[in-house]
Amino acid sequence: MSQAEGEVPPETCRCVLPLYSRTMRSGRAASRQAKVDWAALIQGAREVRERAYAPYSRFKVGAAVLGESGRIYVGCNVENSSYGLTVCAERNAAAQAVAAGEKKLLACAIAAGGKPCPPCGMCRQVLAEFGDPAMPVVLLGGGKARIIHALSDLLPHAFDKTFL
Ligand SMILES: [Zn+2]
Repeated sequence: MSQAEGEVPPETCRCVLPLYSRTMRSGRAASRQAKVDWAALIQGAREVRERAYAPYSRFKVGAAVLGESGRIYVGCNVENSSYGLTVCAERNAAAQAVAAGEKKLLACAIAAGGKPCPPCGMCRQVLAEFGDPAMPVVLLGGGKARIIHALSDLLPHAFDKTFL
C-alpha cells in the first residue's frame, strides 16, 4: 500500500515529531487545524516536477502548497540561460496561490528526484511570508523516503513583518 494515501509519511524528522503528533494524528493543532490531503499534495508536487524547465542543471523540482481555501497550487523550477533568473518550484507554487487569491498557506510538499531535498533559503523566506511557523513541509525524493519539517525548523528566527 502506498504511504501517500491520506497520512503523513512515517519517515518523519525527529525534530517535528511533536508537531506531527499534535497536528496530524490528533487534529488538535495549536493554531490552525489543517486537514491536509497528503496524497493529493504529494501527487501534485510529483506531477508538476515532470514539467520543470531545467535544461542547465537537470535538477527538476516540483512543489505543491495547500491554500487556506483548501485548494492546492503547484509550481516547478524554471531555469534561464541567465542563470540568476532561475525561479524555484516552491516560489512558483506560492506565487500561483497568491495569484489565485490565497493569503495563507497551510502545508507544502517538495519533490526532487534523488534524496529528499529541502527548499533553498530564499524559498524558506517566501514560505514564511504565507505559512505559520508550524506549517508542515514534506520533502520527497525519488524513492519512498520522506521527511517532514515544521517551517520554523527550516527557517528559525525568520524575518517577518513584525520587524517593519
Ligand atoms: Zn528555492
